[in-house]
Amino acid sequence: MTNTGQAATRYTGLVDKYRDRLPIRADAQAVSLGEGDTPLVRLENIPAALGIDIDVYVKYEGLNPTSSFKDRGMTVAVTQAVAEGSRAVICASTGNTSASAAAYAARAGIIAFVLIPEGKIALGKLAQAMMHGALVIQIKGNFDRGMGLVKALADEAPVTLVNSVNPYRLQGQKTAAFEIIEALGKPPDYHCLPVGNAGNITAHWIGYSEHAGLNTAACAFCAGDCGFLPRSADGRRPRMLGYQASGAAPFLRGAMVDKPETVATAIRIGHPQSWDFAWAASRESGGWFAELSDEQILAAQKMLAEQEGIFCEPASAASVAGLIQDLRAGKLVAGSSVVCTLTGHGLKDPDTAIRQSSEPITVEAEMDAVKRIILDNMA
Ligand SMILES: *Cc1c(COP(=O)(O)O)cnc(C)c1O
Repeated sequence: MTNTGQAATRYTGLVDKYRDRLPIRADAQAVSLGEGDTPLVRLENIPAALGIDIDVYVKYEGLNPTSSFKDRGMTVAVTQAVAEGSRAVICASTGNTSASAAAYAARAGIIAFVLIPEGKIALGKLAQAMMHGALVIQIKGNFDRGMGLVKALADEAPVTLVNSVNPYRLQGQKTAAFEIIEALGKPPDYHCLPVGNAGNITAHWIGYSEHAGLNTAACAFCAGDCGFLPRSADGRRPRMLGYQASGAAPFLRGAMVDKPETVATAIRIGHPQSWDFAWAASRESGGWFAELSDEQILAAQKMLAEQEGIFCEPASAASVAGLIQDLRAGKLVAGSSVVCTLTGHGLKDPDTAIRQSSEPITVEAEMDAVKRIILDNMA
């Protein structure tokens, strides 16, 4: 007897789970790889070492199927595209969007075309796009240039654009806010995110706003001029803190940046597509933007890996690096709760990880040699 009378509880992804809160076609069949439902891990060692009275959680989005939060948006965008009869998707990408688009296109049996900046994509991300059978086009230009190209191409050819200007992407990504509220029983006081194109900070704000009973869903389908973010703040929502790398910080400059540079390639973006929405989210939430050096970002990445056992990619660590900087400056209220989104997995960018780490010690394959090292390092 295997039937114990229990209902099946297999998790089948966020389209199935949140369908009533997603504006997709009623007849759409979910294209899912089981994305979402990622762990919200409470940091123990870093807050203790910093001596702070703040509850810090990380939302480990690197544990999505293709190891970044992009899967949340991609499952919804590809589900809707297939329901509408689309046979191909296209995106420009610093890496993770292309990995995700490639995987979900493979799952749906459609074609993925991805434009990536030549030589500036992390190795793991390129491997993913290639393995999933995407048609990878390297352009001799940066992400922002690629974005301009795919937007124009999507108007000319029968392909669905799956960058975050596709409103279904943000609709999918808003579910991370729902999960955080379910896990904590309420929204956090602050939410820290790395900001590149600024789609994710916008999506989280949509999610928190919807939970607070402020209707934002319908308006994502207008041209963006109806002010789909709510203007009044009834209902509790977190302050949204957006962090950028100093070399790619248009929100700090108050203007677009033409030659963005940072080791955190996922946020190496100078012309954010969700510029107005992200400003609105920041202002309405009472949050702010701040910038970090590459050194600060890499130090936070190392700290998370060494002190908490959590390996995220450099861009993701900007959220924790930013939190630490703002805590030191006394900008957060004591006793608060904070969620930092760790947007992608550390294995995405093995080169940057190895470059910051010390080389393995090589010894003879003998007991004494190995034992000496163990004793030396435990002294
Ligand atoms: C896409 C991405 C970001 C930036 O998100 P935006 O929505 O573009 O602001 C940050 N970190 C990682 C790992 C990403 O893949």
